[in-house]
Order: sequence, then C-alpha cells, then structure tokens
Amino acid sequence: MMDVLIHGGRVIDPANGLDGIANVMIKDGCIAAVGEGKHKAGTEIDASGLIVCPGLVDMHVHLREPGQEWKEDVESGSKAAVAGGVTSMCCMPNTTPRLDHAGVIRQVIERAGEIGLCNVHPIAAVTKNLDGKELTEMRELAHAGAVAFSDDGMPVWHGGIMRKALEYASSFGFLIIQHAEDLQLTQDGCVNEGWISTQLGVEGMPAEGEDDMVARDIMLTRLVDARYHVAHISSKGAVELVRRARNEGLKISAEAAPHHFALTEEEVLGFNTDAKMNPPLRTEEDRQAVIEGLSDGTIEIIATDHAPHHEDDKRCGLSCAAFGIVGLETMLPVSLGLVRDGMLSLPDLLAKMTSNPAKLLNLDTGTLSHDAVADVCIFDPEATWRLDRNKLFSKSKNTPWHDKAMTGKVTHTIKGGRIVFEHGTIHA
Ligand SMILES: [Zn+2]
Repeated sequence: MMDVLIHGGRVIDPANGLDGIANVMIKDGCIAAVGEGKHKAGTEIDASGLIVCPGLVDMHVHLREPGQEWKEDVESGSKAAVAGGVTSMCCMPNTTPRLDHAGVIRQVIERAGEIGLCNVHPIAAVTKNLDGKELTEMRELAHAGAVAFSDDGMPVWHGGIMRKALEYASSFGFLIIQHAEDLQLTQDGCVNEGWISTQLGVEGMPAEGEDDMVARDIMLTRLVDARYHVAHISSKGAVELVRRARNEGLKISAEAAPHHFALTEEEVLGFNTDAKMNPPLRTEEDRQAVIEGLSDGTIEIIATDHAPHHEDDKRCGLSCAAFGIVGLETMLPVSLGLVRDGMLSLPDLLAKMTSNPAKLLNLDTGTLSHDAVADVCIFDPEATWRLDRNKLFSKSKNTPWHDKAMTGKVTHTIKGGRIVFEHGTIHA
C-alpha cells in the first residue's frame, strides 16, 4: 500500500482537541504522524485551503440489503457514503429478512468487507421481525458484529419489552436506539400535524407522538439504569426532555438528522413527497429547538437517516408515498450551514459526525490518533455547487435538495490508507 502525505490543510481532529494547519502522514494504512514534519510519500495531496478530518461516522443508514436491492445495496450505499466523506456507517435492521439473527448480520459485514469502501456496522433488531413482541438473541447478535439494537422504522412500543431490552442490552454495555413514535397518535399521518396538514387536507403526526415515547423511555432508563439513544430527534418537546434527563445524569443521548435542522414542514407544501419523512419535518420552532440542542450539547450526534426509495414509491400522493430521503451525500454541506450561521464551531460540528458517534458505539474510528486506522475526509468548506440528483451515487434519488445550491464539497475520502474517493470519482 502506498504511503500518503496530506500537506498544508487545516487538520481538525475533535477526539484529540486538535485544530490547526498540519501535515498528516499515513503509513501502512494507519496514521503515522500529524504535525509539521514532512516525509516523502508515494502519494501526496495538497490540502491547502481544505479541511482534513477523520472520516465521518454516520450511525443511522438504511442500506436496503438484503431484500430491496433495487433501492440501494451495500455497494451503492458504500459509494454514496464515501462520496459524502463517510467511512463508517451503521445500517438499520428493517431489511428483508430483518437483521434479527446472527447469519444475516455476518452476511452484511462480509459483503461490506468485499466491497471495501466503507466500514459497515449493523444495528440489530431489538425484537424478532421488528414486531415488538419477543426480544432477539441480543448477546449472540452482538457477538456476530452488531454494534447496537433498534427496531428503527418501528418504535419499541411495548413498555415491558422496552424495559427488558434496556436491562438486557445494558448488562453487556450495549445501546438501545429508539425510533420514538407513539403509533396510536401518529397512525395514518404523513406530515407534521398543524396548519400545514390542515391546509393540505392530509392526516398529521403530532409532535406529542414523539414526546410521549421519549418521556416514557426516560422513565424506564431511570428505572433500570440503562443506556438509551433517541434516533432522529425532531420535536421541541423531545429535545427538552432529553436535556433535562441528561442534566439529571441519565445515560441518554440523541441524534439529529440534517433535514430536521435545515428544513421545516413548509417543504411539503405543493405535496412534495421528497419532503415526506418520519418523523416529519416540523415547525420553525421545532427546528430552532433542534439547533439549540445541537449547540448546547444536548444532541451530541448528527446522523442522516439515509432512506433510499425508488421513484415509484415517491411518485404518488403524499399519503401513500414512502417515508424518507437519501442523506449520505448531502450530510456535510447541509450541516456546514450550522457553522456559517454561527450556531456551532467547525470542530464541534465535526465531533458530532466523527468522535461522538464513535465513542457512543465503542468504534475505534472517528479519530486521527497516532496508529489509528487511516480513515480521513478532506473537504473544501467554501466550494459551491449545485446538487443534481441524477449524479448521486445512491441508487435512489429521493432528495429535497435537487437543484439546490450547496456550500462545502468533499474532495477526498481515504479508507484504511487507500484513497477511495477523489474529486467525484470512486476508486473501487
Ligand atoms: Zn426511524
């Protein structure tokens, strides 16, 4: 493997509190040095004017393999990831079959290894078939390589099952990730409940359907002293609940998706199905609350909830369209908006996409520490470009940012010391 020297860039490594102009030397696939020194290397990248940071870690991705490979598969998802600067991602278990037994967990990991572009860490199901009734063999799934548990797409709605899941996963240090939705309150809904749903004449999903599930889970987490994580937090009420629980010292964390801090429910006006997701885009007040949660540290993590869907699942009415958007290739530019708006420093933003998720899931990535595996993202924070959905590496094109101006562009992605993405081209 060729040694790589990345010179002259602004190196930001939140795990080590590092932010300054430096050279990064990669030897034998690992970080050999970060500093002023310069060795000769087979490959040299001039990063002047660019940001050099750990490869991004996205802990919430739907890869659709096995079962729905026409929407996405491990290969196309890996390409989309590295095009977005992501070198490690966690994939959710709502595939067909579900990621609820060891064999299928191993199969996904093996497939990702063959492709070799991006680390893929499966998140296993909490309950068999995601039906909320019977716990999976969690220890066995962890042994097979799962890094956390979730029924994402569905909530773990049953309080007794959730209590057991929290107790059991915590007994070996694992995290339960909740898709917080009270289905009795949100059923048939397709957008946020409020003025917009009324105006469009479609069923709404009240923010209370998120808040009440988070409130219940916080109580259970307190009861059994467990680790608990709220996926794609979107409501003002839920952010406030998480803030108070963390202040109380409970082991609770949360992630926000770029669309929830960049967009509001107004995107669905005109029946735009590419703005339909679950939880739905909410009000400006909710959006501001999510941003406040990100800036005061209540929300430690940014994750995409990358949810590829075929055109056929989106080219229909709002009520019958599928939930979700693709996000891997827009996460960085959209999130950089928070820095431009003065809501977060660049190192704090990058911590939420590198070291924080890695720490939460006990991954040994998300850092440029000496001897760490060399997963690196290099980007131009000022480059402006226009998103063309037809040029996405993802098989699916369901994005609300088609033809929108983006600021910030990934120039290189390095995985294990190998340049896997360079100026728009994947090196498979
Ligand atoms: Zn979800």
